[in-house]
Amino acid sequence: MITEVLSINELKKEAPVFGQLSFDNHEQVVFCQDKDTGLKAIIGVHNTILGPALGGTRMYDYKTEWDALNDVLRLSRGMTYKAAITGLNLGGGKAVIMGDAKKIKTPELMRRFGKFVHTLGGKYYTAEDVGMETSDMDTVREVTPYVTGISEAKGGAGNPSPVTAYGVYMGMKAATKFAYGDDNLDGKKILVQGIGHVGEELVRLTSKEGAKVIISDINEERLTSVSKAYGVEIYRGDDLYSEAADIYAPCALGATVNDETINKLKVKVIAGAANNQLANEDAHGALLQNKGIVYAPDFLINAGGIINVYAEIAGYGREQIMSKTENIYNTTLDILNRAKATSITTNVAAIRIAEDRINARKKEQKSAL
Ligand code: NAD
Repeated sequence: MITEVLSINELKKEAPVFGQLSFDNHEQVVFCQDKDTGLKAIIGVHNTILGPALGGTRMYDYKTEWDALNDVLRLSRGMTYKAAITGLNLGGGKAVIMGDAKKIKTPELMRRFGKFVHTLGGKYYTAEDVGMETSDMDTVREVTPYVTGISEAKGGAGNPSPVTAYGVYMGMKAATKFAYGDDNLDGKKILVQGIGHVGEELVRLTSKEGAKVIISDINEERLTSVSKAYGVEIYRGDDLYSEAADIYAPCALGATVNDETINKLKVKVIAGAANNQLANEDAHGALLQNKGIVYAPDFLINAGGIINVYAEIAGYGREQIMSKTENIYNTTLDILNRAKATSITTNVAAIRIAEDRINARKKEQKSAL
């Protein structure tokens, strides 16, 4: 591969656009601009072999346009693997809108964005992500059918976060079984970092099972209310990563598993909802493996949300949503066992299974021609 033989500077000279670090055989990248509404967006379609590319729209005040491009390229690739490993007939895509949602988001801007999505003719379906609300998806729905995550009142599957949390819980139990020989969370000490939409539900599920849950967040009000609601402890130390525990559940930000934190971590399992938990997939996956920490790949165990929105396209109901999400337990256990048997990291094992599924479909499509 070209990236292995050329330095970054050489690579950029050689391939200034497709040589961007996060380009990974993306099928299509669409730049969208509309001065009247202030819209500046990028839609990334990574792969559509298994089906239309589906992935949320993130609205974020990126420092530079390069940051936005890198984010959409990285996130859309992640969606390809997430859908493939979950067994959904979906490809991977994502969109980013540049700007502070609190300052520039208007219904006109969302409709204009929806019109851009519409021009792709169903190759890309959008959904909610950071900076978006269900009501924004309802606005996009006014101008295109290629949107999921719309409100239940408008025929959508509703809030995906509880389903995401249930999948994370399943993945956590599978990783616990792998690490301890038993999936019972009763008595296990779990550090939940970020108690937002997903984190709170994860706290509910794990504390109900008897886990000793410790919560951390930057939002004091939430800490107080969640602690009261489920009788869980608030972390009051100054370095969560150094706290001895059984499980670390990152449910706030990405890249919290990095050179600095891996050195400190005193847990046996990492299983949480945040996307892109490993700052560097290869290097940090390997460091965790060497340290004997079981890492449940994020894109696998946080797939409940995409299962939920996919129901809107595939037309299945609540029961199927929950049973597909429950199956995250089996897939996680399978991946952890395969990684151990073949001495590869759990992240690589998960990506290989996803790629095998995509390649098999590609072969079928070629032979059908
Ligand atoms: P959210 O915004 O509702 O909650 C995030 C929480 O993290 C907030 O309470 C926030 O105060 C807290 N937080 C922010 N920075 C922090 C820090 N430095 N330390 C501790 N806490 C901090 O988000 P969510 O919907 O619960 O999603 C959580 C994570 O899971 C995100 O990374 C998201 O991308 C990922 N995810 C969510 C879904 C879903 O269905 N909502 C699906 C897949 C992945």
